[in-house]
Amino acid sequence: MQELTHFIGGDYANGTSGRFADVYNPATGEVQSKVPLASPDEMNAAIAQAAEAQVAWGATNPQRRARVMMAMVGLMNRDMDKLAEALSREHGKTIPDAKGDLQRGLEVIEYCIGAPQMLKGEYTDSAGPGIDMYSMRQPLGVVGAIMPFNFPAMMPLWHVGPALACGNAVVLKPSERDPSVPLMLAELFVEAGLPKGVFQVVNGEKEAVDAILDSEIIQGVSFVGSTPIAQYIYSRATANGKRAQCFGGAKNHMIVMPDADMDQAADALVGASFGAAGERCMAISVAVPVGDATADALIEKLVPRMEKLKVGPYTAGDDVDMGPVVTGAAKERILGLINSGVEQGAELVVDNRDFKLQGYEDGFFVGPHLFDKVTPDMDIYKQEIFGPVLSTVRAGSYEEALGLAMDHEYGNGTAIFTRDGDTARDFASRVNIGMVGINVPIPVPLAYHTFGGWKKSMFGDLNQHGPDSFKFYTRTKTVTARWPSGIKEGGEFNFKAMD
Ligand code: NAD
Repeated sequence: MQELTHFIGGDYANGTSGRFADVYNPATGEVQSKVPLASPDEMNAAIAQAAEAQVAWGATNPQRRARVMMAMVGLMNRDMDKLAEALSREHGKTIPDAKGDLQRGLEVIEYCIGAPQMLKGEYTDSAGPGIDMYSMRQPLGVVGAIMPFNFPAMMPLWHVGPALACGNAVVLKPSERDPSVPLMLAELFVEAGLPKGVFQVVNGEKEAVDAILDSEIIQGVSFVGSTPIAQYIYSRATANGKRAQCFGGAKNHMIVMPDADMDQAADALVGASFGAAGERCMAISVAVPVGDATADALIEKLVPRMEKLKVGPYTAGDDVDMGPVVTGAAKERILGLINSGVEQGAELVVDNRDFKLQGYEDGFFVGPHLFDKVTPDMDIYKQEIFGPVLSTVRAGSYEEALGLAMDHEYGNGTAIFTRDGDTARDFASRVNIGMVGINVPIPVPLAYHTFGGWKKSMFGDLNQHGPDSFKFYTRTKTVTARWPSGIKEGGEFNFKAMD
């Protein structure tokens, strides 16, 4: 049994707590390795070491820091196949999905090459006689990043990249379910020229996370995961005086208007709902066709497309559209929610509850499911299922459809499919959700925009990547400087001139 490690002080480091968690191969259901769970002492030692390393890194000029990002891009591209294989083996997603996960992370590293431009600051010449004023953005110091299982490369890179580019040291606590790729990325950063100790990967669970939240050294905390934990982390981190941004769960609605291109809408829904087995915070989990005729037409197009979906292990390569879910517990939870939908009166149009994959009977596979006639009081509508389950809620009008998306407690992403510009514009303008797609089912903003939801999908006020990330990982210092030429006759300074 392989024993995984932490990555501390520029090298792989064995855990010393004596506690481990099982890491599964979701396709076979076998435990393939054990990941060490750090004790608070181990976490605090890694944080202290990061603080020492940060001093020189924070003083390194931004261009040099950007060069590390540039080298990292090359190294990730060099090792793309190896990284994707390791990612799929622990997460279960297909190789193309794993490469997408890496690629979207890589794009944020590319964005970080612009750090010198982003960190230039502001300057006012002659704010008064002989007085200049300038604002600079300085690193926070050591920041903590606590990340989810579903994008084990992309999510850490979205945070580690900008935090490092801004001159911080980072202590990353990856998901204990798929920790290998973050460790490999840490090794690549060292190869790219990052000084040792500036990026520490410490594996663990609640104990390790709480040590981050209570550390007096840690200045900022970035969290991505489920909403209850996001809320907990936000309140504990901010109560301890830290800056925090915590991104939570989602229930993304896609509204299908009667004038939409129904083939395009059905294709989009199948990809957005079942890709990566629905384990995406931007997955569409609710379809809202407007009018019964639209609903009937949409379902008629969805069913044959869903029947064609190939479920299997990532090792089957291009022959597979979706892999297993991440753990046996996740599978049980998803199947439990599907059963609750049936019990609460929804119509299960595509039912794969008996799905078994020959040769992989112990794998955590869940086939795609489609519900019709779901109502807002049902658990399958209220809860984030985070699996391959699409619920259809029929709306009588555009206003009713808009109201559904707006009334849901989550506000991560949403989409509308229509040919009507007025409707699309109205939707984008009024909906209280952070990321909106118009005929685009998964509107994930690119690296140079920012990513974040509203309502219970986000706690804090600065988003992930884009300009917000450079704000989150720095603090502003403003200097007012007076030089002798500003001293007027009699040695008096002319403050009036500043008014
Ligand atoms: P999770 O909340 O179970 O775990 C996230 C992290 O928190 C992990 O590192 C885990 O070890 C840690 N953690 C778990 N319980 C904890 C506790 N009691 N105290 C302290 N730390 C704890 O989430 P997950 O299952 O890994 O990821 C899936 C969730 O992430 C979904 O809800 C998904 O929507 C969300 N997500 C959101 C975004 C976004 O940007 N909004 C992006 C990706 C995933």
